[in-house]
Amino acid sequence: MESDDIQTIAVLGAGNMGHGIAEVAAMAGYDVMLRDINEEFVQNGYEQIEWSLNKLAEKEQLTQEEADASIDRITPVVDMEEAVGDVEFVIEAVPEKMDIKKDVYGDVVEYAPEDAILATNTSSLSITDLSEVTERPEQFCGMHFFNPPVRMALVEVISGAHTADETLDVAEDLAEAFGKTPVRVRKDVPGFVVNRILVPLMNEACWVVEDGTATMAEVDSTVKFDIGLPMGAFELGDQVGNDVTYHVLEYMHDELGEAYAPCPLLEETVEEERYGKKVGRGFYDYEDGDGAQVPTDQTRDDVKRRLLATMANEVGHLVEQDVAPPRDIDQAVMLGAGYPEGPAKMADKAGLETLVETLEALEESTGAERYAVADGLREAAEDGGFHGSADDGETTEFTTISVEYPRERVGHIVLDREARMNTINPDVLDELSAAVDLLEDDDDVRSILLTGKGDRAFSAGADVSGFAASAEPLEAIELSRKGQSTFGKLEEVGMPVVAGIDGFALGGGLELAACADLRIASDRSELGLPEHSLGLLPGWGGTQRLQRLIGMGRAKQVIFTSDRFDAETMADWGFVNEVVPHTEFDEAALDLAERLAGGPPVAQRLTKRAMLRGSEDIEAGLELEAQAFGHLMGTDDLMEGITAFSTDRDPEFEGK
Ligand code: NAD
Repeated sequence: MESDDIQTIAVLGAGNMGHGIAEVAAMAGYDVMLRDINEEFVQNGYEQIEWSLNKLAEKEQLTQEEADASIDRITPVVDMEEAVGDVEFVIEAVPEKMDIKKDVYGDVVEYAPEDAILATNTSSLSITDLSEVTERPEQFCGMHFFNPPVRMALVEVISGAHTADETLDVAEDLAEAFGKTPVRVRKDVPGFVVNRILVPLMNEACWVVEDGTATMAEVDSTVKFDIGLPMGAFELGDQVGNDVTYHVLEYMHDELGEAYAPCPLLEETVEEERYGKKVGRGFYDYEDGDGAQVPTDQTRDDVKRRLLATMANEVGHLVEQDVAPPRDIDQAVMLGAGYPEGPAKMADKAGLETLVETLEALEESTGAERYAVADGLREAAEDGGFHGSADDGETTEFTTISVEYPRERVGHIVLDREARMNTINPDVLDELSAAVDLLEDDDDVRSILLTGKGDRAFSAGADVSGFAASAEPLEAIELSRKGQSTFGKLEEVGMPVVAGIDGFALGGGLELAACADLRIASDRSELGLPEHSLGLLPGWGGTQRLQRLIGMGRAKQVIFTSDRFDAETMADWGFVNEVVPHTEFDEAALDLAERLAGGPPVAQRLTKRAMLRGSEDIEAGLELEAQAFGHLMGTDDLMEGITAFSTDRDPEFEGK
């Protein structure tokens, strides 16, 4: 089975998750068989999808025609043979009970075509155990969506012990076709990646209070306003449901041992049925009390270190067991839990040596197993950080680009293929990606300037000789995706990026510049997307990012005419922010990057995230904005900004 063969998907279970997954699949153009155990349940799921699609149309996130076409692709059914008899892919989202799931798989294997791929949305059961009841375990994997699937970008694609790599590839392609970001979980471990970080962190927050180190208010204040997570630990626990957290933790406890024993404080919430917001009471009281009121000013350094150490230790376990590399762990937790930065990155910034010492001291004083330092953490500490480790593919030895530090706090990436007009090939993409990581990990760098070597071109586009070599459609698709994701890293990097264009910015060069936050161009620059004149289309984000910057009408003009436009015109259209004489270009580009490097790092990072997210989903973007606004209230930078303003001097932001 190849992902291109998939036309019809069966979604089993029309509940909370099932209906959301079916909606996502239908919106992506697949026919969907939505199955539940009786007419009423399946109809209920169907109506929820209809409601949600209409809501999306009302908010203009899709047209009414698209909403209608999506609902038309969904067939509600009760009969299992009808549901799975003629599908290429099955996603199961029935209740989280082994017995129910086993029964369901018994029927699925009876009726589903032999080559159909089976995926489960389970949050906490073993993928391997489930696969073994299907008689085709190599075609079975986990596909863990987050709630609500329509909104949440992450899908953990999980390998069971018998899963074939091709199965995982198809599941990942499908998640991408759904418009989601898959993260591969290479081993079937309890909690997979996101819950493996979140749940032990919640448990440790409980231990901090249980052993009298700090109050709940201090813990939540620290988590929300110092570590900078979207919610306090107890606030999040109440939101997720303490019974749900407890259930996942118990499973970890059974499988992974004493280090994951639930803290009595958490146990009590379950015994007393204080499940959280959904029942009106959890750690906080939402009925008779004020709910979760997290103070901004009760942060504690020792609590911060202890919680970061717990997170770092879990990252260490995941890395040492080869479940996922640090970069994937970071991406999963950022997308699945809304963290502003990944846990590995946060741990690196706090200093792994310090976190190891924190764990060792706790182990010594309490004797508790959960503080035993993971080998993966120890090794990363020796390597200088999770993201500094050699197996991450990072290198500072560049050949197609160079990285310079021309001004204070400015990292300068230069496309260094002057003889070839700084054209972009797969090596350039790899090195660009590594350079972005290098600069992002460097605490002394606060803005990135991207330019081309020499004075003929920023970049004249993709290296056409590279294209000819990859004439195979599949390779071309890969190349397109690689460019899209590498350029996307610049768009997502947590600091301002300036593209300095002097000369040609054509094709891939223009697409690369479109990922910067600001663009400065010399007056002799020429910009355009010539792909149509070659019978191609701009395949590194050009059909998407350009229209966000200059509107669809102008973007179509650039793409469909293949014309070159001068810098002034592109400035009038909003693509170029500033046009300067060629002779002043180098200075002006550096000045702009330096000026942005002096801005408030936390506010800049959070602004980028909220704007990027909001361009896909305004509700989610507004929510991020509100959370970010709250977070900034507790920062030193805000104090500095206000003090500097009132004393009429320039602020010295520290990113704290
Ligand atoms: P739910 O109870 O809302 O929905 C389950 C649905 O499955 C119900 O409509 C039920 O009638 C139906 N069902 C029961 N037996 C069935 C059968 N034999 N065939 C078809 N349908 C059947 O549960 P949910 O929250 O949607 O969870 C479903 C799965 O997704 C679970 O494995 C859960 O762990 C997982 N999950 C849940 C969340 C979440 O936040 N709720 C997040 C990620 C994953």
